[in-house]
Order: sequence, then structure tokens, then C-alpha cells
Amino acid sequence: MTPAALTATIDLDAIAHNVDVLRTASGADVLAVVKADAYGHGALPVARAALAAGAAELGVAHITEALTLRRGGIDAHLTAWLHTPGADFDAAISHDIDIALSSLRQLDAVIAAAKRRSRTATVTVKVDTGLNRSGVAPDEWSDFAESLAKARADGAVTVRAIMCHLARGDEPEHPLNSEQAARLDEAAADLRRLGAGPEVIHIANSPAALTRPDLARDLVRPGIAMYGRTPVPERGDFGLIPAMALTAQVALVKKLAAGQGVSYGHTFVAPADTTIAVLPAGYADGVPRLLSGRFHVAIDGRLFPGVGRICMDQLVIDLGPDGAGVTEGDTAELFGTGRSGGPTAKDWADTIGTIDYEIVSGIGARAVRRYVGGEP
Ligand SMILES: *Cc1c(COP(=O)(O)O)cnc(C)c1O
Repeated sequence: MTPAALTATIDLDAIAHNVDVLRTASGADVLAVVKADAYGHGALPVARAALAAGAAELGVAHITEALTLRRGGIDAHLTAWLHTPGADFDAAISHDIDIALSSLRQLDAVIAAAKRRSRTATVTVKVDTGLNRSGVAPDEWSDFAESLAKARADGAVTVRAIMCHLARGDEPEHPLNSEQAARLDEAAADLRRLGAGPEVIHIANSPAALTRPDLARDLVRPGIAMYGRTPVPERGDFGLIPAMALTAQVALVKKLAAGQGVSYGHTFVAPADTTIAVLPAGYADGVPRLLSGRFHVAIDGRLFPGVGRICMDQLVIDLGPDGAGVTEGDTAELFGTGRSGGPTAKDWADTIGTIDYEIVSGIGARAVRRYVGGEP
């Protein structure tokens, strides 16, 4: 098989291993977060691999993402937690998608959809315990809880779960983590008093799943750690294995004379005669333009610096005066596990002042996803 110009190789055995790490560290079942096309790794293959590895259920942001998984044959429990007024609650109910509710408006819309469908909607209560993003706000809580209890009594909804999201999960010892958990436990107690008690409680994102087993409750809800990237770098890598490697085939090798500039604006001018190579990866593929001149790629275990501006489709590296034996068609690793000294997504993130979540989820559709490992 001829390799694609640009390939994101996804190691499904790494996903399985990371699910295991998360279950062991938290002592809880895993709700695998596969939103945003599984952080760029491919929602369907990752969902299948995570479930095969023992993840209990799945979570996404949009109902449309959940419907895509259902169309792909995923029948595991599946929760979607971000809805606008146009969200298709009817389709969610028809396809047994657990709808996480952040407001009374959303609850009313789900009740109406359940009536239209003559079905009972499965819902999760998403409580804003301090993140101040999604979730039922404190000033709406008592009205929400009463309406929910009534809807449950009417048979319009089943209350499957209650959840919240941590604001400072990546600061394991921050007191806000325990405060948010206590607020969620209180909200769950409120619902139980009203006869609308949830079956399960979940709080922990990746950093909390790995560092705060006391917050695990029934399920943990990791994303980034399942993809093998440590959410708390100062605590180490927890034995996680990065699941994505980005590689490009060398498109072109050519000589460059001293004094010649490279790429738009000639931001790099060769100080001496050298050899350059063009790689078919650019900012349209998720290689940040801000990385221009500030990264290395690995070819055959050797590191070569990027030079000049990163363009939409291509970037240039400096192979040195003798070209280092690199030829067109060779494979260059833009990032990978880092295990043999190669570049990582975290290197990119650190260099441009962001997080590796943004790097991997930003790898574009033009990079062909290639899957290795997993069930035969
Ligand atoms: C994205 C997301 C997660 C996963 O977060 P990670 O930091 O990637 O583990 C969990 N819960 C909710 C509500 C999310 O939006």
C-alpha cells in the first residue's frame, strides 16, 4: 500500500491500554469521551476500541455526534451534553441517546419531544457546580428539580445520571474540586428527596480520574488521557501511551544556496549552502502557523528543523549541507509518542503556548487516518 502524503496513525491498542490505566487509577467505570471526532482520532474506531477495552459508555457534545455513532452501529449507552434551541431532541429520543440537560428550557423541550414521540426520554442532569459554563445554574436549580420530578412522575423522562464538570481538575489538590463534588452530591440528594434520584453520578475528567479517585463516584469521564496525553504533566505520564502519530512523506528535496530565503516573506535566509525538503503538511492540516521556525521533524531517528513560514499545505525543513541521505518519499514524523526522542504534540503546544488537546483535535481531515492495533 502506498502511504498517503499525510497520515495520522491511530494506535487502537494504545487507546485500549489507556482505558485500562484510567479504570485502574480511578477504580471506576469509564465513560469514554469521543466528542470532536474523538479529539481528531476518529470517533467510530475509537468508540469501538474503547468499548472493546471495557469502557462502559460513551459521551459526546452534540446530538449530531451521537447520531453519527448510532449510524455507525454503536449501541452502547451514549450521552450528549451540549444543545442549542434547534437541537434535534426527537432524534435523540428515537435513537436512545441520553440527553444531558443544562436548563429548564432544555427540559421543557425534551418533555415536548417525548410527548410527540410517545416515548420516555433518558436524561442526565448537568449541574453547574462552579465551572460557570454549561449546566443548570444555581438560581434555577429548585425550579428545575421540581419540574424534573414531575416529568419523571408523568413518565416523560427517566433520570439516568447527574454530572458536573470540574473547573480546575488539572490542579488536583485545589479545594474547588472537592467543593464541586460536594455540590453535586447535594444536588443528587435533592433529586432523591423529590423521587427523581439519578442512577449514576459522574464528575471526573482525565486529570481527576488519574489523581482524585475519591471524586470518581460511579463513572469517570476522561477524554485526553484516553488519547494517551497526560493532563497533569507535572505528575508524569501515568504510563499513558499517545495514540496519534502524524507523519508526512517528503515531497521534494532540493539544494539551497547561502543567502537564499525560504517560503513566504523569506523569514529564514540560509546562512550557508544547504539542502531543504518540502513536506505536505500545513496550517490547513492543523500544523499551527505560529510554529514556523520553532519545531523539528524526525526522519529515520534524526531531527531536522523547520525553516521559513508554515503555509496552508506545506512546510520546509532544513536537511543540512549534505542532505543527510533523505530522499523524496521518505517518511517524516511531525509528532508521535516521543518515546525515541521524536517530537510530540506537547512540544508543539508548549512552543506556541497552548495545550495538546488543541493540537490533536485540530489535525484536519486531509490527514488520512490509518488504524493499527485493535481487535482483528
Ligand atoms: C471534554 C469533556 C470531558 C473530557 O475532558 P478531558 O479533560 O479531555 O478528560 C469530560 N466531560 C465533559 C463535560 C467534557 O466536555
